[in-house]
Amino acid sequence: MELVKQARARVARLDLSAAQAAVADGQAHAAHALWNLLHEYFTFRQGRFASLKECDTAIRQARHEIDWLARLPAQAAQAVLKTYRQAWANFFNPDHPAQRPTFKGRFHTRMAVDVPQARDLRIQRINRRWGEANLPKVGRVRFRWTKDLPGVTRGGPQGRITGARLVKDAFGWSIVFRTETLVPALQQAHPGPAVGIDRGVNVALALSDGTTREHKPWLSRGEREHLRRLEKKSARQRATRPPGRPASHRLARTYAQIGRVRAIAKRRALDWQHQTTTELADTFSLIVVEDLKIPNMVRSAKGTIEAPGRNVAQKAGLNRSISGEAWGRGVTLMEYKSADRGGNVVKVPAAGTSQTCHRCGHRDPAARQGIRFACTNPDCGWVGHADINAAINVENAAGTAVSGRGDLAVRRSVKRQPPRAA
Ligand SMILES: [Zn+2]
Repeated sequence: MELVKQARARVARLDLSAAQAAVADGQAHAAHALWNLLHEYFTFRQGRFASLKECDTAIRQARHEIDWLARLPAQAAQAVLKTYRQAWANFFNPDHPAQRPTFKGRFHTRMAVDVPQARDLRIQRINRRWGEANLPKVGRVRFRWTKDLPGVTRGGPQGRITGARLVKDAFGWSIVFRTETLVPALQQAHPGPAVGIDRGVNVALALSDGTTREHKPWLSRGEREHLRRLEKKSARQRATRPPGRPASHRLARTYAQIGRVRAIAKRRALDWQHQTTTELADTFSLIVVEDLKIPNMVRSAKGTIEAPGRNVAQKAGLNRSISGEAWGRGVTLMEYKSADRGGNVVKVPAAGTSQTCHRCGHRDPAARQGIRFACTNPDCGWVGHADINAAINVENAAGTAVSGRGDLAVRRSVKRQPPRAA
């Protein structure tokens, strides 16, 4: 049987002592400061970009001269340089231009440290629930063992770990292992039908086959009320702070509490996304979705765990935008799950899909009335679920012709893409 490599990321909760967590915090802050240092060096150096070699030399020299930079393991510093260079490469990518690399603010940056060399990790399983790994300068640490990692235990999956990254959220530090597992090659194309998916206004997901996928609110009524009180409290604490002074300990504690409630919601949303995208990838051979450029402002309005944004509720269209961010992640999940099963995900421009009648093609913004779509073309007059109408338009936009039985007549091929490791 032919085996193929499958790249994945596997997250495990770390069990760090207070001292170890402090070292990891210091490394993350140093990594972030190094990014800013590189950005300064790279962009303002006598009006010309610095070469990779020049940056590398600058890092080496800075490690001798700057105290805090020495806290960051050399490999992690190289990883920052690599990520920074990649950010520029993405910016100049003509197909999918990314945002221009910028300075990273102290609080609006995710705490993370790369451990690029897997062999230094020396991973071992110590019992049913825990594994151990070496982290540079942090030492030997324990992590929750939930699923076998490739190439570590006998009888576990074939493959290897290619690197890792430490990330911090409201619950503390986790380790993300980049894995490369050997799996059997696909024997045949996906037998399922095609589908268009619209992230609905009224429902979470509307499908062109007339069904929907929905979920309960991510937070219970009590949890939402708790969050609302915490947000008011943080506003009060911010208001009493003298201008220019750093946040008080009390304010920092309130931020941490807000961060934990939000992290609970995020985790539930991710669970639902995983379940739903697995089901969709199992069922459909071709999944057509709207191609969404996620606006910048989501990030600035929402803030991060350590510093939640201000006036979050007032930011116009925020809910839609946040659902856009979640949607982007959902599409990424579908892309690799679908590819694993021999299916495809196709992205199409979303313009007009919600205003156009799928039956006659008549476009009129007035046709959409909340959950109901009523075609204003007198010769057509189709009436139905607005989000499902949009989903059918999305499917049609991919240039697929679907016969009465729903068989796929035309199939577009899409390049198979592995997911990006976290
Ligand atoms: Zn119509």
